[in-house]
Amino acid sequence: MLALLRSALWPRLSALTVALSLALGASSGVHIAHAQSVAPVPPAPIPLSPSAGTVPSLQAPSRRPYAAPAPIPRADRAPLPLAATPFAPSAPTQTVLPALPTAGGDCAAQLRALGVIFNQPSPINGPGACGIPAPVKVTSIGGIALRPTATLTCPTALAFAQFLRGEIAPAARAIHGAPPATVHVAASYVCRTRNHQPGARMSEHSFGRAIDVRAITLASGRQWSVAPRSGGSADARFQARVRQAACGPFRTVLGPGSDGFHTDHLHFDLAERRSTYCR
Ligand SMILES: [Zn+2]
Repeated sequence: MLALLRSALWPRLSALTVALSLALGASSGVHIAHAQSVAPVPPAPIPLSPSAGTVPSLQAPSRRPYAAPAPIPRADRAPLPLAATPFAPSAPTQTVLPALPTAGGDCAAQLRALGVIFNQPSPINGPGACGIPAPVKVTSIGGIALRPTATLTCPTALAFAQFLRGEIAPAARAIHGAPPATVHVAASYVCRTRNHQPGARMSEHSFGRAIDVRAITLASGRQWSVAPRSGGSADARFQARVRQAACGPFRTVLGPGSDGFHTDHLHFDLAERRSTYCR
């Protein structure tokens, strides 16, 4: 009986298993299809999430570094004071230099424009031909002291002020690395003959048209003194440059080597002569 039942049912059972396996295979195939169709879905949310989540995270870090350059103001502030200080010293000389043109105008006003500190004593009359109708007594020029003070005609004081600021001071800075602090004056107005020689013609000093310089103390403390010099030392170059620059602004320039009377000072004057006399 059993054998009969088996033989009778077997084909049907095997047919069922085939059908089941087919059904299972189809259903698993459906699941695969679902898995495949779901897999592409995630990419869709990606663009959504990046726009919502990634962008802010990108903007935040990018803004922080830009906000950090708060040092930018430092750069703006730093150059301002730096630029202001270096330009400040040159500005006064540039604004003053235009006033350098000598001829004409109010001499006293031109002295003030050059930063000359002076007073105007009473006229000096005599003895003899000596004297200054309208003297000025100069204490300092642009912060550079004159020791002792120099009594001169106003045009002579103006010529020396221009020369000191326009030639001597730049030469001192260029050669000695420091501006003049004090000019040591050997002579200004004094009633005497040339070189103190009896019977000689009257010196330009007798009319306040000459000034003698024997030394200059620089702001650094260094002192340059007039002396017979040659060669390429700083003192020699400075002395030569000052002497050369003086010829023109002054009508007479004398110093070491000119004669036996000017070995220790430079003489500058505004003698009324047709040409300059510089040796
Ligand atoms: Zn002199």
